[in-house]
Amino acid sequence: MNAELPNFGKAKNKAMEILEANFIIDPPVIAQKLAEYYGLTVRYSFFKPEYNEISGFIEAERQMIVVNAEEPPARQNFTVAHELGHYLLEHDLLGSEYTCLFRNPAKQVNTPIEQEANCFAANLLVPTYILRKYINDYPFATDEQLSKIFGVSSDVVRFRKLYL
Ligand SMILES: [Zn+2]
Repeated sequence: MNAELPNFGKAKNKAMEILEANFIIDPPVIAQKLAEYYGLTVRYSFFKPEYNEISGFIEAERQMIVVNAEEPPARQNFTVAHELGHYLLEHDLLGSEYTCLFRNPAKQVNTPIEQEANCFAANLLVPTYILRKYINDYPFATDEQLSKIFGVSSDVVRFRKLYL
């Protein structure tokens, strides 16, 4: 396996495995509950102004996900799912620059493990089979309305629709 390329199949399969193992068939998927189930603590913290561009990070040694307390709940849900992805995909978390999720995508380090963690989070929170069901059942639902059902931002819904 080429270490330079993200393994999206692995990330997606891991997300599906977690949903199945926890009998999750309906949204919203609450990432914090899953993180706690897998032994992680989730802490909401107010960051210093110089760090307020950071959405969250994981402290692997303390088994703790730290989330920016000032962001909207939908964003926080994605942050926890992303960090949980690093943990469950057994990414090497010792290089701290890889463990921070930035709010601004332009600042995000776009390494393979970051892309895998995002892929995991998107598939965990908005599985295509559940999204498809909701779009069939509620064909006039807006992205905004769907985002409330799934507990994510409407950007994530728009992105996930590309995969249907
Ligand atoms: Zn990350």
